[in-house]
Amino acid sequence: MFHLILTACVAANSGQCLDLLLPEGDAATQQDCLAAAQRISGEWIAARPDLTATKSTCRETTEVETVDLEEVAPGIWVRRGIIAQIEAENRGRIANLSVVIGRDSVAVIDAGASRAEGQALYAAIRRLTMKPISHLVLTHMHPDHVLGASVFTEAGATVMASAKLPPALEARAMTYLENFDRILGPREMIGTSITLPVALVEESDRIDLGERVLELRAVLTAHTDNDLMVRDETTGALFTGDLVFRGLTPVVDGSINGWLNWLAEPPAPGGVIVPGHGEIAQNWQEAVAKQADLLVQLRDSVRKSIASGQPMSVAVPEIVDQLQGLADGWTDFPETIARDATAAYKELEWE
Ligand SMILES: [Zn+2]
Repeated sequence: MFHLILTACVAANSGQCLDLLLPEGDAATQQDCLAAAQRISGEWIAARPDLTATKSTCRETTEVETVDLEEVAPGIWVRRGIIAQIEAENRGRIANLSVVIGRDSVAVIDAGASRAEGQALYAAIRRLTMKPISHLVLTHMHPDHVLGASVFTEAGATVMASAKLPPALEARAMTYLENFDRILGPREMIGTSITLPVALVEESDRIDLGERVLELRAVLTAHTDNDLMVRDETTGALFTGDLVFRGLTPVVDGSINGWLNWLAEPPAPGGVIVPGHGEIAQNWQEAVAKQADLLVQLRDSVRKSIASGQPMSVAVPEIVDQLQGLADGWTDFPETIARDATAAYKELEWE
């Protein structure tokens, strides 16, 4: 397959340019790709006044930048994110992104931190299969999971998420884009935009990929207020999004009590568990034990501080100190735990 690659530059700074893959231009031959290139590129860039185009070319799938996909169960491929906080050096590529291939079509679970990351995932999928990408499921609103979505909607995928995701993402959209522009740089973010889901999951839903069904389940407020987990009925594989962190310190952006409630109710035993960050786990215990222990101790420490009348400004650094013994195996521990302790304090002071 050949892909249309448009070199787009920041209109305000023509030195900042990035190659964008426009899925609408996919074609079986280079000739067919080139024939439509000018029209597709022209329409795409005309809709984006913040960008200018310099040239478009057609490249074979093998010549396009991809991400590494690893098959973790039959027909299930995962790009494992780097276990770190978002920084320029890792291009924000820290979230695990998954691909499930059915008989008729493909579902993608989470899209990455930028158009650039999303399209590298798209190209990696195209090295595996030419089947249509029918669905993109967003596990929650966080930018490292959702900002790569536009390339999949252009490829024809229906974007699905918790019904609570759109207002949460819209409220944070400008902040996310400004922060990522600052951290990753404007070049890396060329073509990145907010894509809202069109298929909203109130409680549960199903995706039929042909001889393979994915079950989607919205979760009560835990990591965020719009978490959604996905289960593959064929292999029992569970995609938890950031309801499970491994290696990277868990971030409380929803409710620590809600998260612990979710952790206390393990799903039916099944296949592999793909966390939002970190290594794939073979079972529930392996996936969540370390995280559950950390969150329980965090909640207990915060409750004690509140009970003893400590103001938050005094409590937070003390809690970080108290929990330091648990830091082994968690990246970015003190910084994230300080933020988590603040969030938990605000939640638990009303108990
Ligand atoms: Zn998250």
